[in-house]
Amino acid sequence: EELKTTNFIHDIIDADLASGKRTEVVTRFPPEPNGYLHIGHAKAICLDFGTAEKYNGKCHLRFDDTNPEAEDEEYVQAIQEDIKWLGFNWGENLFWASNYFDAMYEYAVRLINKGKAYVCELTQEEFKDYRGAPTEPGKEPPGRDRSIEENLELFEKMKNGGFKDGACVLRVKIDMTSPNLHLRDPAIYRIKTATHHNTGDKWCIYPMYDFAHCIEDSIEGVTHSMCTLEFEVHRPLYDWILRELDVFQPQQIEFSRLNLTYTVMSKRKLLELVNEKLVNGWDDPRMPTLCGMRRRGFSAESIRKLCDIVGCTKVESISEVELLESCVRDNLNENSLRAMAVVDPIKVVIENYPDELEEEFELPNHPQKEEKGKRTVPFSRELWIERTDYKDDAPNKFKGFTLGREVRLRGAYLATCNEVIKDADGEVTELRCTYDPETKGGSAPDGRKVKSTIHWVSAKHAVDTEVRLYDRLFTVENPLADKEADFKDFLNPESLQLITAKLEPGLAKAKPGTRFQFERVGYFCADKDSTEEAPVFNRTLTLRAPKKV
Ligand code: ATP
Ligand code: MG
Ligand code: MG
Repeated sequence: EELKTTNFIHDIIDADLASGKRTEVVTRFPPEPNGYLHIGHAKAICLDFGTAEKYNGKCHLRFDDTNPEAEDEEYVQAIQEDIKWLGFNWGENLFWASNYFDAMYEYAVRLINKGKAYVCELTQEEFKDYRGAPTEPGKEPPGRDRSIEENLELFEKMKNGGFKDGACVLRVKIDMTSPNLHLRDPAIYRIKTATHHNTGDKWCIYPMYDFAHCIEDSIEGVTHSMCTLEFEVHRPLYDWILRELDVFQPQQIEFSRLNLTYTVMSKRKLLELVNEKLVNGWDDPRMPTLCGMRRRGFSAESIRKLCDIVGCTKVESISEVELLESCVRDNLNENSLRAMAVVDPIKVVIENYPDELEEEFELPNHPQKEEKGKRTVPFSRELWIERTDYKDDAPNKFKGFTLGREVRLRGAYLATCNEVIKDADGEVTELRCTYDPETKGGSAPDGRKVKSTIHWVSAKHAVDTEVRLYDRLFTVENPLADKEADFKDFLNPESLQLITAKLEPGLAKAKPGTRFQFERVGYFCADKDSTEEAPVFNRTLTLRAPKKV
């Protein structure tokens, strides 16, 4: 499915193709395998892969694995699974930044040979004093005028483990007076004794992001390298490095991040929630991760739809999570299977229905989509219905039982409530009803109108099921707004509630990941913890958005 909206990036590409500056489009999605993908990444994925699709080009999946310590094979696997689930495929174009370590080293040596890079022994803190503030020029750090020969020797010694971690870095020699601090001799290599998941112990020096990323893009022939807005001030450095190296020059284009209300969107913060067990892992259905949303029951289409609606601009903003939820609801309303489940049960006894009789009714899996087939639902003398489907004093528009009113039991019969049984506290425990045997399937042969239709589950056949009701993870729209506070102080203590529901028996066999609309109740999805003996369902969303207060 093609991106419906175009955006300023496509305008740039159109112009590049028209002028002959480019003859093809190559993009890349460059995750660092240091965490799971979140819905913010989905925006980048839709843009990177979607743009390549639009122009019949290629989108590379490149693992930006230049930080040995935070990276892990677990993340590599999960990232690939999530991108495929979202509906995109990199085909043969899978790349690893770490495969370019040799090339990057050679490029660094090339810069030293041009007199454009030097080894610097200042600590990060000490260098800050030389770099200075944006409003004033910096000072030249000691070692800046070292000879090329000495720099080559020192850099080789860095590579060979001749220094302790942090003892020195390699810097590019640009301009200590530049108004852009990123051009004041940034470090491009640092010493880090760590085992890398791909290159093992071969290296003890690792390239910094700004040096690595442009070279990765260049080596792969990326034409348009999209990244988020905070890299705009890095672009002059990106361009400088590739110009000095005299290699293929991709164009970096920045766009604004996707942010959503009531959540946080940074891998580091999400990892904190996981490590401190404030959620049940990366795929906790309350997490903004793609695996969390998938487990919750959100479809890939609805996430792509959100990215399409939000579009691609340079304006920083926080989108309302309600927008995502409405995409999810629309999609589930269209596609999810219908079923009956009672979440807060009271008993109904059909007094004139024979004790030993059992029937099965065929109900459609979807009211509009015949192709989704039918299911059979057992019916017997005793049923469960929702507590909210009975009222003593029912207004006319109330869709449920009250004394003397005839109600349709979805797909089964019309029944009338004749007696209410309450406990000592006045809570309803049971309704005594009679049914009309002539109304099999739910319509009366005499054509009498019955406005109310409710869902039910045969008590004898019902499956007791754990249902996990999820709410927002945070109680405030922007948990990061208060810079003094810890974002974890705003976690919603009621974001997960467990209840037991009565399900129509066929649901016990639902495969994990199958999405349902429990009629009149909400959207639910069979969880991965589900077994046929002990099914578990996640509430994806309520049927309608709660009214804003
Ligand atoms: P985080 O800030 O969550 O740690 P990151 O940017 O460090 O994310 P990367 O693995 O480097 O994570 O991201 C891969 C790509 O996804 C980058 O091109 C990055 O710009 C993009 N990306 C990350 N977060 C968002 C977001 N919220 N909206 C849009 N694109 C994003
Ligand atoms: Mg990053
Ligand atoms: Mg990050």
